[in-house]
Amino acid sequence: MLEQALHVLKDVFGYDSFRGSQGAIIERVANGGDALVLMPTGGGKSLCYQVPGLLRGGLAVIVSPLIALMDDQVATLDELGVPAAALNSTLSAEQQRDLAVRLRQGEVKMLYLAPERLVQPRMLSFLQQLDIALFAIDEAHCVSQWGHDFRPEYMQLGQLAELFADVPRIALTATADKRTREEIVNRLQLHDAERFLSSFDRPNIFYRIVPKEQPRKQLLAFLGQRKGDAGIVYCLSRKKVDDIAAFLCEQGYSALPYHAGLPAEVRAYNQKRFLNEEGIVMVATVAFGMGIDKPNVRFVAHLDLPKSLEAYYQETGRAGRDGLPADAWMAYGLQDVLMLKQMMQNSEGDERHKRVEQHKLDAMLALCEETRCRRQAMLAYFDEELPQPCGHCDNCVDGVQTWDATEPARQALSAIYRTGQRYGVGHLVDVLLGKDNDKVRQAGHRQLAVFGVGKGQAEGEWRSLYRQLVARGLADIDLEGFGGLRLTETCRPLLRGETTLQLRRDAKPQVAARGAGGSPASQLVRAEEREQWEALRALRRRLAEEHGVPPYVIFPDSTLLEMLRSQPGNLADMGRVSGVGARKLERYGQAFLEVLAGTEAPQAPEPSDLRHELASLARAGMTPAQIAGQLKCSEKNVYALLAELIAGRQLALEQALDLPETLMVELQDAFLDGEGELPPVSEVQPLFAGRVAEGVLQCVRAALLAEFEL
Ligand code: ADP
Ligand code: ZN
Repeated sequence: MLEQALHVLKDVFGYDSFRGSQGAIIERVANGGDALVLMPTGGGKSLCYQVPGLLRGGLAVIVSPLIALMDDQVATLDELGVPAAALNSTLSAEQQRDLAVRLRQGEVKMLYLAPERLVQPRMLSFLQQLDIALFAIDEAHCVSQWGHDFRPEYMQLGQLAELFADVPRIALTATADKRTREEIVNRLQLHDAERFLSSFDRPNIFYRIVPKEQPRKQLLAFLGQRKGDAGIVYCLSRKKVDDIAAFLCEQGYSALPYHAGLPAEVRAYNQKRFLNEEGIVMVATVAFGMGIDKPNVRFVAHLDLPKSLEAYYQETGRAGRDGLPADAWMAYGLQDVLMLKQMMQNSEGDERHKRVEQHKLDAMLALCEETRCRRQAMLAYFDEELPQPCGHCDNCVDGVQTWDATEPARQALSAIYRTGQRYGVGHLVDVLLGKDNDKVRQAGHRQLAVFGVGKGQAEGEWRSLYRQLVARGLADIDLEGFGGLRLTETCRPLLRGETTLQLRRDAKPQVAARGAGGSPASQLVRAEEREQWEALRALRRRLAEEHGVPPYVIFPDSTLLEMLRSQPGNLADMGRVSGVGARKLERYGQAFLEVLAGTEAPQAPEPSDLRHELASLARAGMTPAQIAGQLKCSEKNVYALLAELIAGRQLALEQALDLPETLMVELQDAFLDGEGELPPVSEVQPLFAGRVAEGVLQCVRAALLAEFEL
């Protein structure tokens, strides 16, 4: 069995060996057993049901909660030569009937559908007439009422156990905790399923957390090392998302905003661009992410603190799905804590719920101020032990300096107490530094014993100290008291001199700047490889546009990188590159060989940015008039460029213009009426005077030209 599985793996997917427990899982399911698979993002869950599906014969039915994910998977399988389909609400009645016929005739190998579709009685009885290879239940944690992604429809999937007693079922999730796991087993009737638990470590992600000083500047320093890479910048509020996106655009980045306050079309459009183009920086609230399968997200940056380690792990986990080096970077400050606490307080839910949230935030803060390996600390929180420090996080690489902060901490706490437990950090630091300003004078704080006792330390050091006191729970933010600091019970032993306190010394800014670029993600390709790398990517982009799929569906970055490094000289060598299966070799092998050999016919010059932008707008369904508005140029120019793109086969006529079919036929006939060459636009135009713009005729003519050249 395993041998056959390896054969399918190589032949269809182009991979040489299984990763982690993939082999064992595939064997189990291919032999008809049930399985519960817990594997982190990027671990390779899809193959766990795709390979057994192909081995068993019959139809593999995959339940997936999101249409976008389904379409992505279907496109990917299509490129691999595996007949797949998604059954969802975007299909017309006719398309659905058509699909039903293909399913009956056994022409489809993999069917993706949403849970609510699957459990419709008609659907179930339809499937009972077919030969079913297996059921895969993706994102199985959606069955858990306690999780964030609860989908009531998932609860009904348990009935598959009885209705299809002989069909193996495999449930998959990237959510690790025990409670969710038990819920999946119970609700999906998977009591006999073999459990496969992988490590949740994401070894290719480099973690770095820095104190927030000048966030925009810090972000630019981080991004500066990653020009041309795709990534996500998370912010807490919608307004901040808009501001940062605009700021990054000004700075020359292709940045797009994404949050729930934007119109649905804009969100869909921005998401599509993020998937289809390279090097887009998505500035987003947490509304962005679920269902983003883009494998080559090279970094995730947080400008605000997530509310829990679970959220941090999930959000950073969207980086580096392809296994290549990726970065998780975060700037955090005391202000974040205040904001989150305010949000928590205003949220609904009982006291118990709020206490749980508070504990989660505390764990997140502890990671920020962690002095040991961040990865060890994070995995420990998820009950997983990493025996050695990882060597791949800021703490491991830079080392952490700690210092004995016992005495300054007492002074800082005392300043909180003496000023009445109602002032924020700014004022407290002023008092400690002995600043003689209005606020200090009016409050009468010059008379305090702590006034000016802190002159031995810089302002930044005092701020860092307060931040760490809050993070460690020695001081607390008083929300009723307008965000002033107050003491907690925990600080008593320190104040009484019974304990000492070791704190983290913040990295000096110049160290931080150097460190920001010190991680390896940005060094994916070396300078001397850059030209060929870009040529490979350009070919991939062109093929992707032709096929209407995202570039990574043609080949993932890891495959292009291996081509670059191993320099295959013929098709046989090309076939050995990881990720090049039989179908893709046949379709694309030659074209990529030519790029590598540098013998590729000279390409038309890269479309200018404007053209590229224009093509994407047209594909997104904007009319020429709307495009003209968006790009601030005349409609005439838009038509001229559209016609060029159509003639160059970079855009389909239907993508450029939305015309009624009868009119389209009439227009084409007008050009095709005469003998010989196509008449110029000026000859045809009088026939349509006042009915269609001249630009429309240009586009139609361009489409005919492109077609005739074939
Ligand atoms: P998950 O669903 O667990 O997040 P995917 O199934 O999307 O992960 O796989 C992540 C990436 O790893 C994909 O690009 C996939 O093609 C690749 N991959 C999976 N298994 C293997 C393997 N055995 N060898 C090489 N690449 C693999
Ligand atoms: Zn580490």
